[in-house]
Amino acid sequence: MKFEDYPIADAIKKNLAAAGYKRPTDIQFKAIPSILKGEDVLAVAQTGTGKTAAFAIPIIDRIHRSKRSLPGLQCIVMVPTRELAGQIGTVFNTLCHHTRVNPFAIYGGVDQDRQIARLKDGIDILVATPGRMFDLISQGAITVSLVNTLVLDEADRMLDQGFIKDIQSIKKKLPQRHQTLFFSATIDREIKKLAFSQVKTTAIRIQISPDSPVSKNVTHWMVEMEMDDKRFFLRRFIRDHETARIMVFVRTKVRAERVAKALERGHIPSATIHGDKDQADRNMVMARFKAGEERILIATDVSARGIDIPDLDFVINYDLPENPENYVHRVGRTGRGTRKGQAFSFCSPEEKPLLDQIQALIKEEIVIQPVTREEYTDILLDPRDTDSLRSMILTHEAEEKKHKKSRRKSKKS
Ligand code: AMP
Repeated sequence: MKFEDYPIADAIKKNLAAAGYKRPTDIQFKAIPSILKGEDVLAVAQTGTGKTAAFAIPIIDRIHRSKRSLPGLQCIVMVPTRELAGQIGTVFNTLCHHTRVNPFAIYGGVDQDRQIARLKDGIDILVATPGRMFDLISQGAITVSLVNTLVLDEADRMLDQGFIKDIQSIKKKLPQRHQTLFFSATIDREIKKLAFSQVKTTAIRIQISPDSPVSKNVTHWMVEMEMDDKRFFLRRFIRDHETARIMVFVRTKVRAERVAKALERGHIPSATIHGDKDQADRNMVMARFKAGEERILIATDVSARGIDIPDLDFVINYDLPENPENYVHRVGRTGRGTRKGQAFSFCSPEEKPLLDQIQALIKEEIVIQPVTREEYTDILLDPRDTDSLRSMILTHEAEEKKHKKSRRKSKKS
């Protein structure tokens, strides 16, 4: 079935065509009819499957049709990170073009006044991170009494970040009769408990790729190396893929900056995104990366959610994530929609147990890319790296020569 055949407004169909969406993805095919009917939905869908449009299309359609009779905020999409809020806001903006629906995304870390001014103009759909949303509700800038749809997106991550109380308190503020759409990339006992406490017992349950939480479009590789050698492998990988757009994941903010410095020593420019950067900085880095002005982005897990770069070629797990579920979210940045993607994990001996946990979660064996002893040495000795062993030896030899020369000179004189 094509989008053209869906019972949705023509303006939305035009927007879908302009975005290049012809047919629904699996999750869209399964979720759109139920959401249009006003049913609660509980969906387990990995990132990159088109889940944003799966809820955006029917929500926009309903509001577009009912707009004249129902002024005021009608839908809240609650998300765990600022990046995700921005990303989902962009999808809504694209799909609301030429409709009567006004979406708006708010999140912390940026000026409130402009957000308040925009809210005063009247909006129909609010995409928000919890902190800023509650702040603006308490200031009276947001009224939720007419909200009839609540979307909890990436609910597993909201749980991880301790937003459970926020979810419960927003539910209490909404009119009793409202539709809840619960989306999560992973499902375990805790998430199930949360899900069932939020949706009606009649909720439609949808599970995409039940065997693995990771998109089939992603191929997984791992390369074995010592922790201290990772920087050499990263530089070699980047040089071997001259035009590729690559996201590199590390475990901490400090490591992100360290890896960027290590790339600099190999004359490779890169950008970093992590929690120590203010929001304006993070937005700028993302915009530059999306525009292709930077091709290497080094990120921590927190900043990774909501990053949608249609032509990201590789995800590199420079550090394996402590929590295997973060692997799913990291690699979900590539192989999005109908594209193919590749994920490489740099695995040191001490990280092997983490790799086992990841393989168990994704129910797939990650293929080892063999590296011969000669290749390994060659990578460590790359003369293009100012900190490589070969560079150090060459510099040392050059200095020795200089010394010898000056010693000879002083002997003669
Ligand atoms: P999401 O899972 O919502 O983050 O979407 C992942 C990617 O799939 C985004 O880049 C979307 O633009 C793309 N996408 C969503 N729906 C479709 C569709 N029906 N056809 C092609 N691409 C799509």
